[in-house]
Amino acid sequence: MEKMTRRAFLALGARTAALLGLSAAAGPGLARALENLADGTAPVLWLQGQSCSGCSVSLLNSEAPGPAELLTDYIHLLFHGTLSAATGETAEQVIEKSVELGGYYLVFEGAVPQGMPRACTMGGKPMGDLLERAARGARAVLAVGSCASFGGIPAAENNPTGSVSVPDYLAGRGYSGKVLRLPGCPCHPDWIVGTLAHVIRFGLPPVDSFNRPTAFYGRVIHDQCPRFSDYEREKFAARFGDEGCLFKLGCLGPETHADCSSRLWNGGINYCVRAGGPCIGCASEHFALTTGFPFYTKGRQKPA
Ligand code: SF4
Ligand code: SF4
Repeated sequence: MEKMTRRAFLALGARTAALLGLSAAAGPGLARALENLADGTAPVLWLQGQSCSGCSVSLLNSEAPGPAELLTDYIHLLFHGTLSAATGETAEQVIEKSVELGGYYLVFEGAVPQGMPRACTMGGKPMGDLLERAARGARAVLAVGSCASFGGIPAAENNPTGSVSVPDYLAGRGYSGKVLRLPGCPCHPDWIVGTLAHVIRFGLPPVDSFNRPTAFYGRVIHDQCPRFSDYEREKFAARFGDEGCLFKLGCLGPETHADCSSRLWNGGINYCVRAGGPCIGCASEHFALTTGFPFYTKGRQKPA
């Protein structure tokens, strides 16, 4: 695999500036940040707690650059539970050495079983302990995905592991640094790469009250939905496959902060609502946390 050229990084920097909503002038700086990700001067340590690895799979689905370039030329991963060749004691040594040296960007995927520490371990030790040590040596901490950001499915009501989000876990351990939340089930690859590039080049990005980058979570799905005019005219779909707004089929677009409607998924091909599926609020701060969380609840009434 050939290394990416300076020209390719500049093009990527310009695209990253656009996806962050920054002016073209930010492109060269972001290109430098992306080069730092690739050459190892901005190393990434990626740890997984209670997760399905879906956010890792989503990263592999990144289109620009594609998965092969992303892994070989783009992000210098010190360790990744799914992607690294190292296993067993070797993996433990790599992680311990990285934590000892510090200075990396920590990406944590998944929730933390605070009430049952041995439900998720690394080398026989509770993952929560490793998270805390890794966070203290990190230049920045990114909670990637809904489980890491808010607890998500592992923290669903009645879960037996006492699962909590990364920011809640770290706050309980006295960690006072800011943890960026990038919710989504899974997290969009642009949200991960764009946030990393911003943090490396410009520091922490502008965030909302949940510490979600506003470039990606500043608006609700509903605002830019192609079915918004149907909502305004009260033309509602009664069944899946019907034309019209999906609100009465349970769409949570009006209360879910994310930019899926404009960014789209799978390299800009489509997203849930345009494909005819109501937004289930996978990026919502409430996603899956209670037994009453409304997946496809029918018959909702439009607010006056
Ligand atoms: S389909 Fe969902 S997001 Fe789109 S306009 Fe209707 S309620 Fe809003
Ligand atoms: S449209 Fe809603 S359910 Fe679909 S990916 Fe975006 S936030 Fe998740």
